[in-house]
Amino acid sequence: MITGSCFCSRVSYTLNGSLQNGRSCHCSRCRKAFSGASSAYAQLSPGSTVSWTGKEFLSTSADEGLAIGFCGSCGSTLCGMWNGDVHGLTLGCIDGDPGVEIEEHIFVGSKAPWDHIGGNAPQFEEHAET
Ligand SMILES: [Zn+2]
Ligand SMILES: [Zn+2]
Repeated sequence: MITGSCFCSRVSYTLNGSLQNGRSCHCSRCRKAFSGASSAYAQLSPGSTVSWTGKEFLSTSADEGLAIGFCGSCGSTLCGMWNGDVHGLTLGCIDGDPGVEIEEHIFVGSKAPWDHIGGNAPQFEEHAET
């Protein structure tokens, strides 16, 4: 069972299902959303759902369209949302093994000048070609 929580532990969750398509995006927006060199996230596998504890602390950057869900108390980025529905989880907030790895680095063409990408996962200038 996959569980996760924010920095201050006010928000936690259990994933009922599994994750797929682990990615790291190095674009300027993801760097700000994740306060780091890149994002690290994975999509919910079809049929998977998330059960929240402390959901009253979960804030969103937008009510419609693409948004991030974050803890309104400590600021940890917890999930990606589409029209209010969770479609992905941030790998950094997962406790233990999420069952996926970073399979591709995207938007490497606009990565930060101080970012040195390690590992063997394929790198794409923008979106992955798959
Ligand atoms: Zn928090
Ligand atoms: Zn990005």
